[in-house]
Amino acid sequence: MYHWQSEGGKKASVDDMVLLTKITEEAITDNLKRRFMDDKIYTYIGPVLVAVNPFKQLPYFGDKELEMYQGAATYEVPPHIFALADTMYRNMLIDSDNQCVIISGESGAGKTVSAKFIMNYITKVSQGTKKVQHIKDIILESNPLLEAFGNAKTTRNNNSSRFGKYIEIQFSSGGEPLGGKISNFLLEKSRVHSLNSEERSFHIFYQLCAGANAAMVEELGISEPDYYHYLSQSGVFKVDNMNDALDFQETLSAMNVMGISEQIQNDILCIVAAILHMGNICFTEQGNAAVIANAEYLEFPAYLLGVSSEWVGRKLVSRVFDSKWGGQSERVDVTLNVEQAQFTRDAWTKGLYTRLFDYIVDTINKAMVTDANLINLGILDIYGFEIFDKNGFEQFCINYVNEKLQQIFIDLTLKSEQEEYNSEGIQWKPISYFDNKVVCELIETKRPPGIMCILDDTCATMSAKTEGADMDFHCKMESQVGSNAHYQKFNQGFIIKHYAGNVSYQIEGFCEKNRDVLNSDIIEVMQSSSKPFISSLFPDVIQSGAKKHPTTAGTKIRTQANELVTTLTKCVPHYIRCIKPNETKKPHDWDSQMAKHQVEYLGLKENIRVKRAGFAYRRPFHKFLQRYAILSPETWPSWSGRAEQGIHVIMKAINMDQDQFQIGKTKIFIKDPESLYMIEECRERK
Ligand code: ATP
Ligand code: MG
Repeated sequence: MYHWQSEGGKKASVDDMVLLTKITEEAITDNLKRRFMDDKIYTYIGPVLVAVNPFKQLPYFGDKELEMYQGAATYEVPPHIFALADTMYRNMLIDSDNQCVIISGESGAGKTVSAKFIMNYITKVSQGTKKVQHIKDIILESNPLLEAFGNAKTTRNNNSSRFGKYIEIQFSSGGEPLGGKISNFLLEKSRVHSLNSEERSFHIFYQLCAGANAAMVEELGISEPDYYHYLSQSGVFKVDNMNDALDFQETLSAMNVMGISEQIQNDILCIVAAILHMGNICFTEQGNAAVIANAEYLEFPAYLLGVSSEWVGRKLVSRVFDSKWGGQSERVDVTLNVEQAQFTRDAWTKGLYTRLFDYIVDTINKAMVTDANLINLGILDIYGFEIFDKNGFEQFCINYVNEKLQQIFIDLTLKSEQEEYNSEGIQWKPISYFDNKVVCELIETKRPPGIMCILDDTCATMSAKTEGADMDFHCKMESQVGSNAHYQKFNQGFIIKHYAGNVSYQIEGFCEKNRDVLNSDIIEVMQSSSKPFISSLFPDVIQSGAKKHPTTAGTKIRTQANELVTTLTKCVPHYIRCIKPNETKKPHDWDSQMAKHQVEYLGLKENIRVKRAGFAYRRPFHKFLQRYAILSPETWPSWSGRAEQGIHVIMKAINMDQDQFQIGKTKIFIKDPESLYMIEECRERK
C-alpha cells in the first residue's frame, strides 16, 4: 500500500483512507476526487468500501477481474467491490456465519448498481449443478423484473428504486446457492397516479407502450404514453440511454424464468393496461355529485379486469357507509363529489398496482424457496435518502429507513467498537460523533409519542372523510414534539433535521397515505373478476360493523425497519458507502461541495478516526483458534489448554509483534490490517 507518494510530481491518492496523513473532510473529499478523476471509484476505510458513482462504464468488471479477486489478499489488488463480495463469500464459508452488506447513499449514488455487482460476482464464483444454475438465473433475473415494476425516473436518478429490498441468498455448506428470499419495503405507490414534473411513473408502463406486439396493442388498447393521463401529466416519456422496448422483452423473459405462465403474464399486462385506461376516466359535477364524463372510457378497463363496467362506474361515484341509527347499523350509499371520485379512482389503481407488485415479489420468492436451513448472504438495497422540492409521506418513510440504517452503521462501527474496547478492558481514547438515535426516536418512539405514533392516533380517530385530519395531525405534533431540537413547524408542514440534512415535509396527504386502506367496495368489485388471477389478488375478508383499525403504512414500515435491524445485527456486516459526485449525471464531473456534504453526514471522518486509533480486526478466542490453530504444531490438530494461551502460542510461532495485538476478556484484537494479512498468508502457506 502506498501513502501520499509522489507520482511524477502529482500527489498520489491512498487506497485505504486509514492511511491519510490528515484526517479532515477536505482531505477525504480530495482523496476521493483524485481517484475519481483517475477512474478509480473504490476506496477503503479499513473494511468499509466507499464507492463513487462514475456515471460511465468502467473496464474493470470483466472476467479478468472476476478471476483476479477470487481469494486474493486485499492489499495485493486495487480496492474493488469484487474484493468485498469475495470476502463476504469466503467468510461465510469458512466461519459458517451469515453475512450481510448494507449499501447506503443518497438517491442516484449507485446502490442498486453495487448490489447487482455483488449478485453477479457471487453467482459467477460459486459452483453448482444445473439446478443451482436455475436458482442463479432466478436471482439475477429478479433484478430486471423488480426494476420494471418498482423503479422509475426521478429528477435525481433515471433508474430510481421506489421500493426497498433485502435479498438473502441461501447457500449449501459447500457454497452453492440453493435458494433465496426477498423482503420488500414500502413501494412508493402514489407514483401510479401522481407525478412531479420531469419524472416518470414505473418503467413497466412505458415498456408496455413501447414494446407491445401487434396482438397486445389490439388486445390491451395500447397507444403512445401521452394518450394516458397518468403518464402525460409530467411531460416526460423517454429516459436517456434507456430502451423501453428492449427492456420490455427482458421483463417478459424474466417472467418466464420465474415460471409465470403465459396466461398469467397476459393477466399481468391486462392489469398494467387497465390502470392506464382507468386513469383516463374523468368526472364532471352534477348538482354536487360526480358523474363520469366519458362513460366509454369505463368499458375497456372493466373488460380488461373482467369486472362489470356498470358496477365499477357506480363505485367510482358513490360509496357505502356504515351508519348507526339507534343502535342499528345500516349501510347507506353516499354520492361522492368530483374530488372524492378522482380520489377513489386513484386509490383503486394504486391498490391494484401494489397488489400486483406484491404478487411479483411473492412469485420470485416461491421460485427460489428452499426448506433447508442454510447459511446466507444478504444484500440490502433500499431507496436512498431523498430531498425534493416537495416532500411527502413517502419521503418521510424513505428517510426514516435511511436514519435506521445510519443507526446500524453508527452502532456497529463507531459505538459498539468503542464500547467493546471498554468491556474487553482494552486501552482506548474515545472519539466523538453525531449519534442520530435522537432523530430515530423523534420519529418512532411510542412513549412519549413520536411522529408516527401521533400520526396513527390521528388516523384512528379520523372519520371516513379525511378533511381536516392533516391539520389535526399538524397541531398535535406541535404540542407533542414541538420542542424537539430536530423538529420545526412551518405553515404547510414540518422540517426534520435528518442526519443527512434538513427536509421539509408537506403535511397534506399524510393521514390518508398512512391509513392506507382500500375501500371494501372496491375489494368486492375486484373479487368478482371473471379472471381467477385478478380475483386472487384480493383475498381480503370483508367485515362489516365494528372494525379493528387496520395496520397503518407508518406502523408497517416501522415494524419492517426494526425487524430488518434485528436481522442485520445477527449477521456479520459489511458496508458500502456510495457517493454521488454530481447532479449532472456526467462522468468526470466532481462537485466538491456535494461530495463533502456526503462525506460529512456519512461520518467517514469519524469512521477513519475510530479505525485508525483502534484495532483492524477482532475475533472471539475460539473462532480465532479454529481458523489459525494450523499455524503451530502445538495447537494443531487440537488444543486443550486455555484459549488465550493457545493464541499466545500461535502468535509466537509466527513471530507476531507484541504491540500488534491485545488479548481482551473474550476476544483477541489485532492492530493493523497488515498484521492480519501476515497471519492469513502464513495460513495460506500451510
Ligand atoms: P436510488 O436510491 O434512487 O435507487 P441508487 O443509489 O440505487 O439510487 P443507482 O440506480 O445504483 O442509484 O445508480 C444510478 C445510475 O448511476 C445508474 O443507473 C448508472 O447509470 C449509474 N451508475 C451507478 N454506479 C455505477 C457504476 N459503478 N458504473 C457505471 N455506472 C454507474
Ligand atoms: Mg436504487
